[in-house]
Amino acid sequence: MADCLFCKIARKEIPAKLVFEDEDVVAFEDINPQAPVHVLVVPKRHIPTLNDLTPEDDALVGKLARVSAQLAAERGVAEAGWRSVVNVNREGGQLVFHVHMHCMGGRPMFWPPG
Ligand code: AMP
Ligand code: ZN
Repeated sequence: MADCLFCKIARKEIPAKLVFEDEDVVAFEDINPQAPVHVLVVPKRHIPTLNDLTPEDDALVGKLARVSAQLAAERGVAEAGWRSVVNVNREGGQLVFHVHMHCMGGRPMFWPPG
């Protein structure tokens, strides 16, 4: 997708703080972090939303989850806990229409913290 922000980041046409890359997935620091750890895990292939997944994407979505967990572990938040979020469409709060899994942690992700 020529005009998609996350496709451009995946193609290295727009800079981002990349923290992981393989043949299917890139991960980079969120530009406006909501927590001490806030990484976006993104398929290289353009898929607008989770609504657009097909059975052929099952392994890819599994990889998004596994890479998120790996990054959480590398940042030392796996045991304390972290949050995985995928926003879908307008009422889901999706702003970038290229599937991405938020990996957030390093603070209590709920209120009141306990
Ligand atoms: P969502 O609301 O789920 O679509 O989340 C989009 C996320 O992308 C937000 O958390 C933004 O802060 C983040 N974001 C937007 N532009 C960039 C960028 N150029 N580099 C890194 N993260 C970005
Ligand atoms: Zn895209």
